[in-house]
Amino acid sequence: MRRKEPVGAVALRLLEAWYVPGVAALGGGAVVAGAFDPGRHAPWIGLLIGAIVVFLGARDVRERVRGQRNDHPLGSVEGPLLWVVGTWMLLRTAGSFGPHLTPLAAGLLAWFHATWPRRMNVFPLGAAAVLEFGLTAAGRQTAGVLVVHLLVFGAAAIALSLFARSEAHRSRVREERARAEEEAARRQHARDFGLLTTQAPALTELPQVADHVADDRSVGHMTLDFLQESFALQLDQLRAALGLDTAAVLWRSPDDEKLHLRGLSTNRQDRIEPGPFPANAGVTASLLRDVREVALAPVKSGFGGLPYYRDAEGVGGVLAVTIHGDGEAVAGVLSVDRAAGDRWTDAERQVVRLAARKLSLDVATGQRLKATDHERNTFSRFCAGLRELNASLDLEGVSHAAIDAVRALVRTDLVAISLVHSDVHRVIAAQGLHAERFQGLQFAEDEGLVGRAVRLGHALPAGGRYRGARPVFTADDRLTEIRSLLIVPLRKEEGPPIGALTVASCDEDVFVSPHGDMLQLIADQVAIKLDLARAHDQIREMATVDGLTGLKNHRIFQHSFDVMLERAERRQGPLCLILTDIDKFKVLNDTYGHPFGDKVLKGVARVLGRAVRGVDLAARYGGEEFALLLEDSDNDGGRILAERIRAEVEGLEFPHESGMVRVTLSLGIAAYPHDGRTKPELIERADQALYRAKESGRNRSICWRDVPVEVRKSVSHA
Ligand code: GH3
Ligand code: MG
Ligand code: MG
Repeated sequence: MRRKEPVGAVALRLLEAWYVPGVAALGGGAVVAGAFDPGRHAPWIGLLIGAIVVFLGARDVRERVRGQRNDHPLGSVEGPLLWVVGTWMLLRTAGSFGPHLTPLAAGLLAWFHATWPRRMNVFPLGAAAVLEFGLTAAGRQTAGVLVVHLLVFGAAAIALSLFARSEAHRSRVREERARAEEEAARRQHARDFGLLTTQAPALTELPQVADHVADDRSVGHMTLDFLQESFALQLDQLRAALGLDTAAVLWRSPDDEKLHLRGLSTNRQDRIEPGPFPANAGVTASLLRDVREVALAPVKSGFGGLPYYRDAEGVGGVLAVTIHGDGEAVAGVLSVDRAAGDRWTDAERQVVRLAARKLSLDVATGQRLKATDHERNTFSRFCAGLRELNASLDLEGVSHAAIDAVRALVRTDLVAISLVHSDVHRVIAAQGLHAERFQGLQFAEDEGLVGRAVRLGHALPAGGRYRGARPVFTADDRLTEIRSLLIVPLRKEEGPPIGALTVASCDEDVFVSPHGDMLQLIADQVAIKLDLARAHDQIREMATVDGLTGLKNHRIFQHSFDVMLERAERRQGPLCLILTDIDKFKVLNDTYGHPFGDKVLKGVARVLGRAVRGVDLAARYGGEEFALLLEDSDNDGGRILAERIRAEVEGLEFPHESGMVRVTLSLGIAAYPHDGRTKPELIERADQALYRAKESGRNRSICWRDVPVEVRKSVSHA
């Protein structure tokens, strides 16, 4: 719908589009009228017009040199017009000598001709011919001169077509063709995601349709950029979280039924095949038929291979899940692999499944945006909001990014996100009208519309209208100034909604279609991001903690050691390492059984965990060996703690049917900077001290500096 424009605005718009050609026409008229001929009557008119033409022409040249595009409809012909008119002004000023310079002008035009954008190349010669005819008609030159000049132009045109075949020209054409191919590849990519509909070529040539298509294409490109970025981000996050070698998205193209690599995060770039791959190749084949998920670990030889790897060497585990498009159709496959052959845990499989769903939601979002929204500004802001949403991993980041995305999309006066946990709803983020009152608000399901929408699992109220008759969150929060309201449940793939996205506006009819659908899309994205945030937390926890003892694992020990050592160096303070080993543990295992041994391990670990301060680290080093890192402690501090631990472990009693069982612990101590400056040095020395403690009778703690020098040597070569 176009509103009525005031006359002044129309005039300005027309003036803006036409003033340059107008000036050129004026200049051309002045040339023909003889304003530049010697002996002219009013030289100032020629000077004034000449100055304007030169100024505008110079501006055009400057813009071209800088590669700036002139966006108005006549942008590509305005400049040439000015150049031609300016040249003829000069020619006329040269008096009777001027016409002799016409070959020079024709040469210049030839150069324009060859360097201008395609399809515009006959234009300057045409404009020059018009001027020449005008001059002849006005009696300023004889027909003979006109004929000579036209002949010169003809020669120039022939020279040009020769130039067009030259190497320089051909290389430019090649460049243009490469650009066109890239453009075609992007279009294919966009078409695979359902972002472009093929336009009949005949139609696109009509100016009004071509305009529309250009706009359509740029929205498609923005969506594609958004999708590519979102895919890359998701896959990188996935790879980092699960320790993957490669995470890849294979998308089924409706055109050739092949699988195209549409997203990739890998550390094995040298082995990647770019594709496209036949749909019946490798692990992915079964997914395209009826299986939803394939998890292999460790992989057996002859498992079929991954299409995107040159060979299956070094692949320990593969997990591939389907990505669904509209309805049940399989749109693609998310496939991940790693060198480790460990079984895929339920949490890991869940993360990959959620990631696949997130990817398909992204594509659905892109398609919906493309279909409903041509307004660029809203569109790009909305993409930015979703991008932020994608980049957020924690609860707070996700909820704020979601609110931003909503505000970019619709005019709202209040946005709130609430989550339900064991039947209690809580607003975790709110912005706008009365936001401070709603932030953190808790309420029950039966109090207001939000609870009701979550229970029913669909958006409320119907039509997005609100008359203040029913409470929104709690029984006493009727929002009298609100006219439009929409509560969208945060749905998961299965199970009840996890909360709701509530938007409200003081204006009427803000949330009518298509905004309602778009809000549902945002809500779906938020729901899945919140779920992912939770799953990521779980994996992070599993990746750092030893499953049996609850202490930090070996990997974290190594990493923390680096960090703490660096800090100690910077602060010039000490750092103490204690390595411990349970005495005669093999015998204990053999006598009472492995499960009982595990109980003992847990008991000892508890003592160690309790003994250290918050800034210290207690880790399971391996088997029945533990390591402690004590910040800001030297050998003396370490010895005191070691002795306390030793005594406490000695006092532990483990009940067994055959009686109480006791264990003892040996400990070795080494401290930075006194005993060593590097991690390997310190570990080696604490280990030597531990060995010495074992050798000299067990159940004791020994510092490396107290190990006799001759023993040290024999130990390190043992
Ligand atoms: P020493 O006093 O010299 O340390 O004698 P040891 O028997 O303890 O010798 P060593 O430290 O080499 O023995 C390690 C034993 O710990 C071997 C292995 O059976 C046992 N072990 C390692 N990990 C576990 C575990 O997770 N659970 C149980 N129950 N036993 C473990
Ligand atoms: Mg041991
Ligand atoms: Mg031992």
